[in-house]
Amino acid sequence: MRVANLQGRLVVVIGDGTAVDVEQASAGRFSADPQAVYAQWSEFREWWGAFDASAASTVTFVPTDLGSPVPAPRQLLAIGLNYREHANEVGMGIPDGLPPVFTKFVSSLTGPDVDVVLPEGDVDWEVELAVVIGQGGRNIDRADAWNHVAGLTVAQDLSERVLQMSGPSPQFSLGKSHDGFCPMGPWVVSVDEIDDPEALRLTCVADGETLQDGTTAEMIVPVPVLIERLSAVVELYPGDVILSGTPAGVGFGRSPRRYLHAGTELVSAIEGIGEIRQRFVTA
Ligand code: ZN
Repeated sequence: MRVANLQGRLVVVIGDGTAVDVEQASAGRFSADPQAVYAQWSEFREWWGAFDASAASTVTFVPTDLGSPVPAPRQLLAIGLNYREHANEVGMGIPDGLPPVFTKFVSSLTGPDVDVVLPEGDVDWEVELAVVIGQGGRNIDRADAWNHVAGLTVAQDLSERVLQMSGPSPQFSLGKSHDGFCPMGPWVVSVDEIDDPEALRLTCVADGETLQDGTTAEMIVPVPVLIERLSAVVELYPGDVILSGTPAGVGFGRSPRRYLHAGTELVSAIEGIGEIRQRFVTA
């Protein structure tokens, strides 16, 4: 099942550019609010499993009609240095315990196919698997962790490196939270639809040039262990999002360093999920 945010309303995507409006199809049992569904994820899955979509009225859309499929998570956690070659390329070494954890402030969230205004500084790309929590909790065991995940989506952890690295203690959260710096989507794919979420190819391409090409199998701390370690400290709520780190190939790790400029189109994709597309513009 693929859920999306079509102009602020929750839909289930059933084909290319075709979807079913959830509030209408469920006669109000489930809210139109795309964020609310994660708190009722198992009932929602059950309802949709029994629903006859072939007889339902449908709506059509193009990618730019979609907003973030998780528009208002209470927490948006992000993980740094979770891929070995990426940790090496930025010269920060391999974390031996929990990799660095920071937040992207939720005001940075945006849809999957958008223009992003470049702020001053050096803006870099990081394609990431975004994990959306269904049933929340504390002290979630790694063996049970996938049962707490509603689904997966594609995110860009856009990062302005000057602010991120400035000061006596780096400003990861601020440097990664400019307006439009967390595009996500195009939809959340439920975990049951993904063969092996711990071995998904992820790529990031700028104007046809492949910049990142990795697999989630390279994660130093895999998703179930991230959930175990994070939930040992922080209660995870339904609809929270964890950005699970980026593979090698970011601009900051290159010699010479490279950053995004106006006119570039960035396409970030994950096997079995889909792709998001950002065009960079000046203010
Ligand atoms: Zn990142």
